[in-house]
Amino acid sequence: MPELPEVETIRRQLSPALAGKRIERLEVLDPKWGSPIAAAELALLIEGRTIEQLGRRGKYLIFDLGNEVFLVCHLRMTGNFLYDAAGDVAYQRAVFELEGGHALRFTDPRRFGTAEVVAGGEALDEYFAGRLGIEPFSGELDGATLRSLAADKKTSIKAFLLDQRAVAGIGNIYADEALFRAEVHPMRQAGRLRPAQYELLAATIQQALQAGLDAGGATIDDFRHADGLYGSFQDEFLVHRRAGEPCPRCGNEVEKIVVAGRGTYLCARCQPRPRGALKRRAADRASHSGRQQ
Ligand SMILES: [Zn+2]
Repeated sequence: MPELPEVETIRRQLSPALAGKRIERLEVLDPKWGSPIAAAELALLIEGRTIEQLGRRGKYLIFDLGNEVFLVCHLRMTGNFLYDAAGDVAYQRAVFELEGGHALRFTDPRRFGTAEVVAGGEALDEYFAGRLGIEPFSGELDGATLRSLAADKKTSIKAFLLDQRAVAGIGNIYADEALFRAEVHPMRQAGRLRPAQYELLAATIQQALQAGLDAGGATIDDFRHADGLYGSFQDEFLVHRRAGEPCPRCGNEVEKIVVAGRGTYLCARCQPRPRGALKRRAADRASHSGRQQ
């Protein structure tokens, strides 16, 4: 699933191309995309409006269509926006025909991506208030904040990082990378790190996400840039998807385990396994691993 760096990469690429362009027609090829709003109704709400700007919150893209009307899109597993794509485009679910003969296509082989129209700035704030916590690059993410968000949490620190309601935008890749950089085992109890570890983790979350941004995101599950090119962060993973390879810090073999229901990569020497791991597993299950979307 695209995480903050991948979604932000798309936003940065699309933003200059889309800003100020009028949507002449919206062709909804898959009604499930905008469900429960019917395809024809969605088109009526969108057509004729101008894309003022393209924003992002967590893993959501926000099309600001002026007059406090917003189209809020989530790419989920395999969603992608392609701008002026050449040739045949597979798995199209929606096509925005833009002024000047340009086209923005939403492609999505697995069809989990969503689009919702939200009217009013206040409604937009409410929409995200129940879904997303702090933005990693907003200046709010520091050790003290992380510590207070995690206080009393009995789940694993990995489940806590995947829960979008605490810190928004982190998924499986960047959780593994941030925990490795901070030398924290993914099964540690979220509410029980030392203050210095929250400080470090707040920093390594931002470092891991920034490294992803610098590489144009990671290409897994067919993530592509808006121009059809691919990100390269998968070549720079320190531990994620590196089972059996040497730890870049100590040379010990990188392991794969399952935490919070997700394949999780770590170095057992750099990230010592805590006691009470079984309890953590039960707590993760009880919390359904939080809201990972
Ligand atoms: Zn190591």
